[in-house]
Amino acid sequence: MKIRFVLFLFVAILAHTLAAQQRCASFDYMQSQLGKNPSLQGKMDAIERFTQNSIKKSQNIQSRLEDGLVIRIPVVVHILYHEPGENISDSRVMEQIAALNRDYRRMNTDTVNTPNYFKQFAADSRIEFRLAISDPQQRSTTGIIRKYTPIAQWEGNDKMKFSSSYGDDAWDADSYLNIWVCNLKGVLGYSSFIGGPANLDGVVISNSVFGQTGTFSAYDKGRTAVHEVGHWLNLKHLWGDTDCGDDQVADTPPQSTFTMGCPSGMKVSCNNSPTGNMYMNYMDFTYDDCMNMFTKGQMDRMRAQFDEGGPRSLLLFSQGLNTPLVYQTEVPDSPPKWLHPQLYPNPATNELNLDLVYDIRWLGKTVTIFNSAGQVEMQFVINSKYQKIDISRLPGGLYLMSAKKEDGATIREKFIKI
Ligand SMILES: [Zn+2]
Repeated sequence: MKIRFVLFLFVAILAHTLAAQQRCASFDYMQSQLGKNPSLQGKMDAIERFTQNSIKKSQNIQSRLEDGLVIRIPVVVHILYHEPGENISDSRVMEQIAALNRDYRRMNTDTVNTPNYFKQFAADSRIEFRLAISDPQQRSTTGIIRKYTPIAQWEGNDKMKFSSSYGDDAWDADSYLNIWVCNLKGVLGYSSFIGGPANLDGVVISNSVFGQTGTFSAYDKGRTAVHEVGHWLNLKHLWGDTDCGDDQVADTPPQSTFTMGCPSGMKVSCNNSPTGNMYMNYMDFTYDDCMNMFTKGQMDRMRAQFDEGGPRSLLLFSQGLNTPLVYQTEVPDSPPKWLHPQLYPNPATNELNLDLVYDIRWLGKTVTIFNSAGQVEMQFVINSKYQKIDISRLPGGLYLMSAKKEDGATIREKFIKI
């Protein structure tokens, strides 16, 4: 019995760990924002009415013709890195932009995997993405911002969207799609919701799944961003975030909940036969390899946001893709000299120096020194960014210095006392 209980606990913890690496936190995020500011609901309801009216209006021929226009969205990518390896390359950014264009234009080669009974609904949304060439002051830009941050790991609480909290401020949301790429804790991505505050507008993508050569193999086709940008363009999850809920799109069948992994065959729920769930839609939670379509209804909903008076309409007047007025040389970001604590001299006799100037938030944190048997030899609180440590009373040998702070950053430095 005891073994079974332990096994149960193990499975429960494993399930929790898997759930902790969530595909998308946009709905939870929206709920928490609404909790903080209930008046946003009215704004969202008004946008929903606008969207529905706009879709109805687009039934007439004039709008149908206008529908042929390709919408190009200027993008700015804010790369926040703590470790040098997180400062992802320009080519990976290009891969991500290419993935967005591939899927929003239905140029993806895996359209062959769309089941025949859903092919008639699949759509080329005629929405494209381009890295901005002009910044908000109309100076030249690559559309990629790189910034060292002392934050090792980010919660889904928008702190990455502000320089004041070691992130990077959004560019004008009426002119740019802001994408933040960072080490996001427990979730692959989340999007702001339409109607939310402009300085929070945009999508946040974990650096492990950004581009098409990330480190998370089930999610390495750039489709986390495809999904999150879908939310940014006012798409909901297929299940409407409740059992057999409504995503406000007519041609996506109702389904009971999200789909994980990579299913095959028909999965029926919510009386949605003869087709079953549309789990290969980008707004489900399946693996990147197993999603391949938006529908016409989703396309109408996304494009409605750009109609005159719509919440994304000002993007059509963005200067972000216009020739810049001022050409400037890109100033490389200046990461601090040390991205890690420096411990010296090593080996040491009586005194060690711990240089924490790269991140002064270590002040006040407790450091523990273990001997090679794993026993605690010393503990002290950091009170200077150039901390001096008296080790004169330690016996000769190998030691480990260890500390951790709330953002997940750690100190783990070995030293030898002689
Ligand atoms: Zn989502």
